[in-house]
Amino acid sequence: TLDATAPAAPRLDAAWLDAHWMPFTGNRDFKARPRMIVAGEGAYYTDTDGRKVFDGLSGLWCSGLGHGRQDIAQAIGRAALQLDYAPAFQFGHPASFELANRIVALMPEGLRHVFFTSSGSEAADTSLKMARAYWRTRGQGGKTRLIGREKGYHGVNFGGVSVGGMVGNRKAFGQGIEADHLPHTQPPAGTFQRGMPQGGGAALADRLLDLIALHDASTIAAVIVEPFSGSAGVVIPPVGYLQRLREICTQHGILLIFDEVITGFGRAGGWTGAEVFGVTPDILNFAKQVTNGAQPLGGCVVTAEIHDTFMAAGGPQYMLEFPHGYTYSAHPVACAAGNAVLQVLQQDDMPARVRALAPAFERMVHGLRGARHVADIRNFGLAAGFTLESLPEEPARRPYEVAMKCWDKGFYVRYGGDTIQLAPPFISTEAELERLVSALGDVLQETA
Ligand code: PMP
Repeated sequence: TLDATAPAAPRLDAAWLDAHWMPFTGNRDFKARPRMIVAGEGAYYTDTDGRKVFDGLSGLWCSGLGHGRQDIAQAIGRAALQLDYAPAFQFGHPASFELANRIVALMPEGLRHVFFTSSGSEAADTSLKMARAYWRTRGQGGKTRLIGREKGYHGVNFGGVSVGGMVGNRKAFGQGIEADHLPHTQPPAGTFQRGMPQGGGAALADRLLDLIALHDASTIAAVIVEPFSGSAGVVIPPVGYLQRLREICTQHGILLIFDEVITGFGRAGGWTGAEVFGVTPDILNFAKQVTNGAQPLGGCVVTAEIHDTFMAAGGPQYMLEFPHGYTYSAHPVACAAGNAVLQVLQQDDMPARVRALAPAFERMVHGLRGARHVADIRNFGLAAGFTLESLPEEPARRPYEVAMKCWDKGFYVRYGGDTIQLAPPFISTEAELERLVSALGDVLQETA
């Protein structure tokens, strides 16, 4: 067995911390007041003071099974000893084929082939390139336009950030690739919608018709949306919205891409958001929960139609059907983690556990309606977003303060824009969920 020996006390002085330029972090803030996580077990992290902190966001929406599992760690350790790395270009190794088959078996009917990446951002850019290459292969190279949605998050690479609808992530970098954006589906603050909004879904999706009228479908390659968006603060589409998007895309010959990096493998209460919402895309992106976060891995699952179009294109033996891939695509250690994680998710039927916990979680989070600063609450499966009343000019300030105070109280939650986000582990008990939501309520009350 592997032994998780207690780490030596890490250095926390600014001179030492300075060497690491941290991602999506206020570096000056962190280095003045480090919040260092040294261990994880079950639904809890341990910090440098030995405090247990409840993991209210499953890491970054990825560790639904909790942390420090022997079975996952064993699978990773064994794989690292047996085959730590192998080129995925022109050569194969068994773990990636096993994982591809496991994934395909969990997808809705029609999604049949997996292209591996190492992250959700890489999956986003891979899917956009696939869409363009697909049309070109079919002799419709004019179909290059890409359409995303306001408040959408598809990672940080140039394609994903361009179709993404989070202006804050785009504005520092200037012109990305050309993209259009559908309107977001967030109800007005004060709606306090439980689960899916009921009305207006088809009308919102019909806005795609305006973009088709503007550009003509002959120029549009794909539409990419999250079945429900996480990073924007848990925004759920109204009933009928995804169905109508599917209809329009099919009618006009536009590929529909679902970014299921958050909704895939349990969080939405099914294996995919596609399954839960009853709408099948042409390409489905995944990452995060597929390895429980224990190894970096993502990918795109595509229909036989898309895959076979590439394979049928012909050419000499040395010709590549799709000139794209990463050194770490189908990494053997990451695939071993994926195989172990999917086995556990299936054995323990984690989507069913999420469905069982979801009604209680919904009741709890909406119990904070009326709490200080709370302007809106949204939820689906084991995910919830709270919009806080913004301070003029400083929308992120209050959510930031709330998240840091929660950390001090022993609860990790995430802030983003004017929202607080919760996505607790699937293995949480109802009592733990109660404590998490109640701690958030206390912090909101104490925050100016
Ligand atoms: N797409 C979605 C829907 C996501 O939520 C995320 C990550 N939060 C990404 C893409 C990007 O994934 P990664 O950070 O692994 O690149």
